[in-house]
Amino acid sequence: MLAEHQEYVAACEKLEEIVQHVTDNTLERYAMRTLPRHKIGPLEEHLLICSDCRNRLEAEIDIATALHVVATKVREDEGRENGIVARATGVGHQR
Ligand SMILES: [Zn+2]
Repeated sequence: MLAEHQEYVAACEKLEEIVQHVTDNTLERYAMRTLPRHKIGPLEEHLLICSDCRNRLEAEIDIATALHVVATKVREDEGRENGIVARATGVGHQR
């Protein structure tokens, strides 16, 4: 039983290594849609399992959206981009 517990702890530590929290800088770039494509996949995977980072992202998106609206008003690819963000945060696509 002790061995099982140790295995469990080791597994958790390993998971934490893999699942590093997203940095503020990365979240900000993701919210601003300037994050390189190859970094988006791992980030979205992390967001799926980490509510902390989802909450942080939502705060970033609020800021980014406000800036985005002011800066560009209307953009053709708005719908597509919003789809990506909505998928990552669960905003707008719940049930
Ligand atoms: Zn996280």
